[in-house]
Amino acid sequence: MEIKKKGASIDAVPTDEAVFPCPFCGSEDIQLQHTWTAAYWVECGGCGAEVSGESYPGDRSENDHILAAKSAIEAWQKRTHRQVRTVPLKAGR
Ligand SMILES: [Zn+2]
Repeated sequence: MEIKKKGASIDAVPTDEAVFPCPFCGSEDIQLQHTWTAAYWVECGGCGAEVSGESYPGDRSENDHILAAKSAIEAWQKRTHRQVRTVPLKAGR
């Protein structure tokens, strides 16, 4: 997973995740997107399909961002559980 610096929050997110390619278009351009808050989603760079994770609107701590990012990645992985290979997760725009 490749994470570009986008605000202060993204630094907290782990960068060693491997994710499944898109189940709809097969794209390997899978991106972890986020807002300023601890709300993340995984988005396909090919067809735009996306899966949101849990949001943590609390104190915006580093831990909240990690939990939110991981929940988005888990949600993506669950939807694509029939896939058998993984690709690198890229940073959002
Ligand atoms: Zn796609």
